[in-house]
Amino acid sequence: MHCPFCAAVDTKVIDSRLVGDGSQVRRRRQCLECHERFTTFEMAELVMPRVIKSDDIREPFDEEKLRRGMQKALEKRPVSSDDVEMAMSYIKSQLRATGEREIPSKMIGNLVMDELKKLDKVAYIRFASVYRSFEDIREFGEEIAKLQD
Ligand SMILES: [Zn+2]
Repeated sequence: MHCPFCAAVDTKVIDSRLVGDGSQVRRRRQCLECHERFTTFEMAELVMPRVIKSDDIREPFDEEKLRRGMQKALEKRPVSSDDVEMAMSYIKSQLRATGEREIPSKMIGNLVMDELKKLDKVAYIRFASVYRSFEDIREFGEEIAKLQD
């Protein structure tokens, strides 16, 4: 593939390994022109179910939207991009595993919360407070108390 830094045509793979329980290949590549290094992830492209929003409108699954949502919650938190990509691929495999052609957006939100809880507690609270819009401060406190157990 072309170099994302200088757009040179030739880049070479310098390392290649399986990640995300073997469903992804992570490759380190180096540009033969400018010698910059970058990472690519490769995975099978499978059809994702469509998303049913709360107003019943259907829309295609949007991977970028999912990534942005997670990155926003993880802003300035010590979690690597690799971990985010792996969490995303896990979420997507869970969604495909339902075998449904359409899934409620709420299900994605819940899966994201589960993954963030594993990755970073602060990010989890950030996401949950926006996503679930906690009814009152007491409910929010209970959620934090649960994390401390
Ligand atoms: Zn280059």
